Amino acid sequence: MLGAMRLLLVEDDRMIGEGLRAGLRLEGHAVDWVRDLAAARSTLASERFDLVLLDLGLPAGGPAGAGAAGDGLALLAEMRARHDPTPVIVITARDASGDRVKGLDAGADDYLVKPFELDELNARIRAVLRRQGGRAEPLLAHNGVTLDPATRQVMQDGRPVLLSAREFAVLEALMQRPGAVLSRAQLEDRLYGWGEEIESNAVSVYVHQLRRKLGADYIRSMRGVGYFL
Ligand code: CA
Repeated sequence: MLGAMRLLLVEDDRMIGEGLRAGLRLEGHAVDWVRDLAAARSTLASERFDLVLLDLGLPAGGPAGAGAAGDGLALLAEMRARHDPTPVIVITARDASGDRVKGLDAGADDYLVKPFELDELNARIRAVLRRQGGRAEPLLAHNGVTLDPATRQVMQDGRPVLLSAREFAVLEALMQRPGAVLSRAQLEDRLYGWGEEIESNAVSVYVHQLRRKLGADYIRSMRGVGYFL
């Protein structure tokens, strides 16, 4: 059984939004509800969710008159363009099969046409998350950072972080055992795997670069022992 999840509901219709939020909360999920594209963008930029429920016809939001009403598909395309892997289920009144294809092409994990039963939505949510859980190599996640060993993608708070191969190797080793202290020698072993001679200070150099990219406190030092998350 899947545990409670954190969901972002993007829906401008007040009655539908209130109904969905209440129903999903009854399932034990934490639900954040935003009603326009600007609010959805800023929320996705600063928070992480297990799944997004996305309406398609949405007001632009933001400062009054800042933009025209927009399309949830544009938001979805933006998420996928920045390699945000959060599962998205599109919920929409549109039922033309062309829209369905566009939604799935834009990177939606599933597509529900309104009106639908809450039971069906819950079943779709479980199915999407099961598919995600069935990945051969699970995502590593710790303290706002996710690392995908399959695609070698690293994200922090929903934004991609570009790492060199060696920085990635050091971070992956630390994220595989969050909280465990890895010695300099253990981390060097990961780097020697790349088949090149390693400078004696290589590990501290890569840790320094990772701290610069992920924040000074993300990797902690235990003096004379090693590094840990
Ligand atoms: Ca709408």
